[in-house]
Amino acid sequence: MMKHLKAEIVAVGTELLLGQIANTNAQWLSQQLALYGINVYNHTVVGDNPGRVEEAFQMAQKRSDIIIVTGGLGPTEDDLTREAFQAISGMEMIEDKTAMGKIELFFQNHQVEMTPNNRRQARVFKGSTVLKNNAGMAPGMKVTLAEKTWFFLPGVPREMKQITKDEIIPYLQVMIGNEQIIKSLVLKFIGIGESSLEHELKDLIQAQSNPTIAPLAQDDGVVIRLTAKGKSEKSIKQLLNNTKIQILERVGEFYFGEDDQVIEEVIVELLKKQKKKLAAAESLTGGMFTEKVVSVNGASEVCPGGIICYDTAIKRDILGVSEQIIQNKGTVSEECALEMAEKVRKLFGSDIGIGFTGVAGPTQTEGNPVGKVFISISDIHGYQKVEEYLFTGTRNSIRKRACLKGLEIIYNYLKS
Ligand code: ATP
Ligand code: MG
Repeated sequence: MMKHLKAEIVAVGTELLLGQIANTNAQWLSQQLALYGINVYNHTVVGDNPGRVEEAFQMAQKRSDIIIVTGGLGPTEDDLTREAFQAISGMEMIEDKTAMGKIELFFQNHQVEMTPNNRRQARVFKGSTVLKNNAGMAPGMKVTLAEKTWFFLPGVPREMKQITKDEIIPYLQVMIGNEQIIKSLVLKFIGIGESSLEHELKDLIQAQSNPTIAPLAQDDGVVIRLTAKGKSEKSIKQLLNNTKIQILERVGEFYFGEDDQVIEEVIVELLKKQKKKLAAAESLTGGMFTEKVVSVNGASEVCPGGIICYDTAIKRDILGVSEQIIQNKGTVSEECALEMAEKVRKLFGSDIGIGFTGVAGPTQTEGNPVGKVFISISDIHGYQKVEEYLFTGTRNSIRKRACLKGLEIIYNYLKS
């Protein structure tokens, strides 16, 4: 039986009130609680002021059943979450040996002197359950006060999330009598926009219930997050997989990977499998494309190098683009792009060459508008192709779009 419980999230920190940071902790926690069917009725934000934190805690104690507090557990004077809760609860505080040991070890290992205020982080309420922090120093706590359940978490998002996943969710599952497991699967796409993807899957998205289907635009393409609930890992996997198959039947040609996979990883993997090497001649992207490829483990096997040929003289004298093309067609042209891919491939002894040339802006060059970009590909068997684009946006978003397009071109080439 699911009990009807009211949850509240209290974020402590003046930074939040000043608008210096957004309350992403509350957002994330709310998403998690919603997944498990726990109703969040209030988000409270309060500054680092003892009186006002106490007031906020009193209010939460009165109106909510589950209260999750983030922030103000650190070692400094303005970290006053413990003191404020002590004031409303009258609970005694003690030093947690495990947490203190961890802090001492940290200072020993880093050979820095520990100041007395660092001990503060190990102080917990007597009778509380200490929640292990696998991502940092200050432990979390679970405290029961007059039948209300309080969770105290560090403000640092990474630590807050870790403790929530490891310690709070399993506890809440039992508390609400919910034995459901929840799992997500992220499908990643390239070469299709968010609206086209949504259009293709419209009926599936409208009919969704378990799993839920949520398309989302990201910097490097579009993703679909599937979230399924069920009684066992096996049944959830089945649910996720069935929906994945349905989705890929429609938009499978744009699909490249799952979860944390990025397109450059998939490309490096394919290059390795096909025993091919790739080199890029980059004008407006200025090395951004090669940087992406090299960021992948084991890229040295597939990428001998590349050339940043930003200036015309470099395109001509170092890369070897012919003077004739530069004079007659200009550097922002199909012909120049094709030569760039061809020359860089030969220069680096690779199987595939890719060339980027265009106008990143903010001003036009050689009569070409801002955003005009040519991307070319050339391979060892004589295959050649060049595409023209007109990207919009700022200088750097145009450069990023060009780089992403290049990754898409190489991925499609390797796939076919
Ligand atoms: P610390 O031990 O680092 O002092 P703490 O528990 O005292 O941790 P805070 O000092 O309040 O937590 O916050 C630490 C950092 O975590 C802040 O600088 C901020 O970047 C981030 N942070 C705090 N609260 C939030 C929040 N509600 N949403 C997003 N980020 C937050
Ligand atoms: Mg702090």
